Amino acid sequence: TDAHLSAIEAARVLNAFVMETPEQARAMAKAVDEKIAKGDAGPLAGIPLGIKDLFATKGVRTTACSKILGNFVPTYESTITSQLWRDGAVMLGKLNNDEFAMGSANETSCFGPVGNPWRREGSNTTLVPGGSSGGSASAVAALLCMGATATDTGGSIRQPAAFTATVGIKPTYGRCSRWGIVAFASSLDQAGPIARSVRDSAMLLRSMAGHDPKDTTSVDIPVPDYEAAIGKSVKGMKIGIPREYRLDGMPAEIEKLWSEGAAWLKAAGAELVEVSLPHTKYALPAYYIVAPAEASSNLARYDGVRYGLREQGRNINELYENTRAEGFGAEVRRRVMIGTYVLSAGYYDAYYLRAQKVRTLIKKDFEDCFARGVDAILTPATPSAAFGIGEKGGADPVEMYLNDIFTVTVNMAGLPGIAVPAGKDAQGLPLGLQLIGRPFEEETLFSLGEVIE
Ligand code: GLN
Repeated sequence: TDAHLSAIEAARVLNAFVMETPEQARAMAKAVDEKIAKGDAGPLAGIPLGIKDLFATKGVRTTACSKILGNFVPTYESTITSQLWRDGAVMLGKLNNDEFAMGSANETSCFGPVGNPWRREGSNTTLVPGGSSGGSASAVAALLCMGATATDTGGSIRQPAAFTATVGIKPTYGRCSRWGIVAFASSLDQAGPIARSVRDSAMLLRSMAGHDPKDTTSVDIPVPDYEAAIGKSVKGMKIGIPREYRLDGMPAEIEKLWSEGAAWLKAAGAELVEVSLPHTKYALPAYYIVAPAEASSNLARYDGVRYGLREQGRNINELYENTRAEGFGAEVRRRVMIGTYVLSAGYYDAYYLRAQKVRTLIKKDFEDCFARGVDAILTPATPSAAFGIGEKGGADPVEMYLNDIFTVTVNMAGLPGIAVPAGKDAQGLPLGLQLIGRPFEEETLFSLGEVIE
């Protein structure tokens, strides 16, 4: 814990942590020491972690990196973090993220952008760590913590993991409790770990997963020993390569990495088959209707009355308006406007309902594929390596949204997906591959992920 606290101090330039909690960390570590002395060590005893600022931490400021949550200090602890502390993990502090987890570069945080510890060869440009869990990925990659919590609505665990050579798994929707996590789009949100290795992520997920009566979408099925899946033979597993993910203009390096990944799995005894997921091209536009629609509804609670920032007004409407205008950043306001528009009378059927129908078709594509005996699907994790801060999405937000092209389908279908570091581009930047599994079969992803890693 002390070593990591010093590393955090020395790496403040990355802006990965928005709140350091050294006193709590030392107290937690001491309490764990006492437990260890009594022979009562949990599976994560003494493991120092960073917590995305979307997770409510009792007595520790939790802002979702939005001005509107200001100095909100929860009086309760999220289920996931409670489970991590139960198992002996230690909290080092709260990690930066895109405001309300909306973004793919960690540039929308009210605390400012996060730096990626990786650099292009021969260049000093600071690169983004990806988003929205940019603080989590940057902190793990820079060895500021041994693992971090993260959330993924459309790719926010997997894309930053790919940009930083870390491992990120988004579990099946319902695998982990969402209780005590600031909601973005409730039918898509799912938490998971970002870690240094496939094995570490298996250990962390085991502690984070499980049914929670406080989240009715969490599923009551046993949590397997994920670590046992590591090193397990993948012989005879059927791996699908979806032809629709072969995009025009995809960098040759990513294309090459994808083939290499397939070859590694084949060498380990897996069977490769070409598959088709015909509705893939509609996933991104449908996601950018469903996610803002749910966000506009979830964010209605930030009104300046119940918690967080409160601006003055001559009447209640003005108070709401002033608070929301001042408290939300540009990207969040954009999402609220899109969401409100697609849900409004006259547009609901044309946009929201249609997007939900498309979502069903996307889910069915995967179901058909799995019904034909496919165990997992291999794709690139991102269409490019990390880019420079401010380089993308400035004039055109859609340019930023395109980053999520390989990751959003998984959330739309509620499936588990893992991003594993697999190679580097010509400038020495990390690239990741993604494996998509059947519902609640995260073990398969750990077994295959370890082969690629
Ligand atoms: N980049 C996507 C978005 O901005 C996904 C974010 C996420 O997964 N939280 O909506």
